[in-house]
Amino acid sequence: MYKVGITGGIGSGKTTVCRVFEVLGIPVFYADTEAKNIMIKDTELIEGVKSAFGKNSYFDDGKLNNKHIAGIVFNSETELAKLNALVHPAVFRAFDTWAKEIKTDVPYTLKEAALLFESDSYKMCDTSILVTAPVETKINRVMQRDNVTAEQVKARMNKQLSDEEKAKMADHFIINDEEHSIIEQVLSLHRHFLQVVSTQK
Ligand code: ATP
Repeated sequence: MYKVGITGGIGSGKTTVCRVFEVLGIPVFYADTEAKNIMIKDTELIEGVKSAFGKNSYFDDGKLNNKHIAGIVFNSETELAKLNALVHPAVFRAFDTWAKEIKTDVPYTLKEAALLFESDSYKMCDTSILVTAPVETKINRVMQRDNVTAEQVKARMNKQLSDEEKAKMADHFIINDEEHSIIEQVLSLHRHFLQVVSTQK
């Protein structure tokens, strides 16, 4: 199955773009949502988190103690790397399981991940799309969506690679600013992927 990785900075609109692909019948694996699910479902991961960050990483009812984990990883690159080293392979496993269940008449699949390039998961994809938007637009969108301050959005942005860095690694681009239509851009890429896949058969 041909796999397309899709990413973009916080507020770039990658989830919105993925919804358009879904309308065209393309299944999307949302890696960040899945990461949250497996934190409370994947027993291997749960055991790993408990041994790295303590038993109180989880409440007695099995829920994740977000505050405890955030307190450890938020200001420490080393601890964050430790968490990512546990979570990323578990997401890869979940993606493999998901991809195996996709019907064979689906032409290609999408994997949406905020850290597609940072986590190396683009290496498991055949090609990649970067969704971009001006920084101010991204900040305004996230402030409205999450009811947070510009400073809080910027702090989250600073933990990701810049668009310029990501652009060096991306194969395709979708500009999601006020002037460009994402629908036309998605349709054009969709046609391109269908053609690539048909020549591979
Ligand atoms: P995150 O990394 O934070 O999950 P994201 O890249 O997935 O963000 P979205 O959630 O798709 O971004 O979009 C952020 C917000 O901006 C959402 O509220 C969405 O509805 C809005 N948005 C996205 N694209 C557009 C657009 N072209 N016009 C207007 N609003 C948009």
